[in-house]
Amino acid sequence: MGRAFVYVIIGGGVAAGYAALEFTKRGVSQGELCIISEESVVPYERPALSKGFLLPEAPARLPSFHTCVGANEERLTPKWYKEHGIELVLGTRVKSADVKRKTLLTATGETISYKILIVATGARALKLEEFGLSGSDAANVCYLRDVADATRLVDVMQSCTGGNAVVIGGGYIGMECAASLVINKINVTMVFPEAHCMARLFTPKIASYYEDFYTAKGVKFIKGTVLSSFDMNSNGKVTAVNLRDGNHLSADMVVVGIGIRPNTALFEGQLTLDKGGIKVNGRMQTSNSSVYAVGDVAAFPVKLFGESRRLEHVDSARKSAKHAVAAIMEPEKTDEFDYLPFFYSRVFTLSWQFYGDGVGEIVHFGDFSGTTFGAYWVSKGHLVGSFLEGGTKEQYEALSKVTRLKPAIEDVAELQRQGLGFALLVSQEPEPEPAPPSPSLGVGGPALALGRPLYAWHATAGVIVAASVAVFAYWYGRKRRRW
Ligand SMILES: Cc1cc2nc3c(=O)[nH]c(=O)nc-3n(C[C@H](O)[C@H](O)[C@H](O)COP(=O)(O)OP(=O)(O)OC[C@H]3O[C@@H](n4cnc5c(N)ncnc54)[C@H](O)[C@@H]3O)c2cc1C
Repeated sequence: MGRAFVYVIIGGGVAAGYAALEFTKRGVSQGELCIISEESVVPYERPALSKGFLLPEAPARLPSFHTCVGANEERLTPKWYKEHGIELVLGTRVKSADVKRKTLLTATGETISYKILIVATGARALKLEEFGLSGSDAANVCYLRDVADATRLVDVMQSCTGGNAVVIGGGYIGMECAASLVINKINVTMVFPEAHCMARLFTPKIASYYEDFYTAKGVKFIKGTVLSSFDMNSNGKVTAVNLRDGNHLSADMVVVGIGIRPNTALFEGQLTLDKGGIKVNGRMQTSNSSVYAVGDVAAFPVKLFGESRRLEHVDSARKSAKHAVAAIMEPEKTDEFDYLPFFYSRVFTLSWQFYGDGVGEIVHFGDFSGTTFGAYWVSKGHLVGSFLEGGTKEQYEALSKVTRLKPAIEDVAELQRQGLGFALLVSQEPEPEPAPPSPSLGVGGPALALGRPLYAWHATAGVIVAASVAVFAYWYGRKRRRW
């Protein structure tokens, strides 16, 4: 016995929620769409779990952060799914998939068939055991991927007020959890093997700003080493953390954030894989034309870079999901996905955003002893990435626009001097009429392919300097606001 649907989504995370909303906007009929998720709640904004969810006062709780509140869209509660005739199969794991037969087998033994499948299975947290260590099942060792993990983390945290936490890992989860632990009055030591926090994204200079900020909040950093073992008591609780460099840290709790692995297992041997995830084209379609993949699990072509990437960020989950649904429902009206990678984080009173690609020469700008500073990345003569801490909505928008434009940069010293003013100025220029690529512009690359002008701006430096001073005065004079 089984059920059949036109569209089935496996996964109940961010991408699933945004896909569901897009299906309804494009006119899915009652009973056509089914969502199968191993989580017992309807899709929610996962980033809330390491931020508002962990606050000691007025913490965020479901249903307040169901998708799609993060994008200021409708909030999709269980009632919303019911009203739209979307079948929810929650608390149920898909055990196997057969893409030739277009069927899924759930852990409850049900067979569900589809015409079109969207794989939105996201990723899972890597466990210590995968690195040859043990202790993940100790009562006071926490991971953070889903709402069940977050609920457990809150319980453990509440039993440790005034105590010591060791955070293993210096990436997003480590940094955001460390901040939340401090806010919950827990003493935090962060341990990671790299030379500085957020090593995959931050420059040493940017990282040192955040590390200094954390240090001022009481966080201790032990870098360049890794966990070697836990000391446990007879109740199965960790009492101390032993590091490979010989350090021995007394611990009332441990948070582990050592990376994630995409959930591809259902499709290995059936779909083409890439970058550890499922390979898709610019329509988010996999090597089987009836199967689409979105979010953390999908490796898709990033037009701007001319290569495929698998991103582990919420904005890409939201937009790739919407794009897949557009491509499914209105294929003739849907172009290739043209995505500008965008990451962000918020910790304590800090807030940063990053656009594009963190490769090439780094050009820092702004006041690193103040509250607003950033960096550009310049590769092969073009600005390809940008970072800003403490910006306004308008400044972040300018950064996003300038990064998408990929302007030619012939003088990095001048770019450094102009700093944020460069983004503000370039982003205010009117969108030019598309022009055919001109060989005389010389530099080539995707900016030309987009038909956009290359900003050989050093030639008009005098004008730009005057304008940018005025632009700076205007923007910096505005009250900073958080969004
Ligand atoms: C704590 C936390 C904080 C974050 N903060 C930020 C942030 O500040 N900024 C940012 O850019 N990104 C952030 N992210 C990353 C962002 O949340 C992810 O990129 C996003 O959730 C990916 O969406 P997704 O739908 O692809 O996967 P997920 O949201 O992980 O959803 C995957 C879903 O699939 C389900 N599933 C998997 N396998 C099966 C199966 N076999 N059967 C049934 N169901 C299955 C899972 O249970 C889950 O419901 C954060 C992530 C976490 C965990």
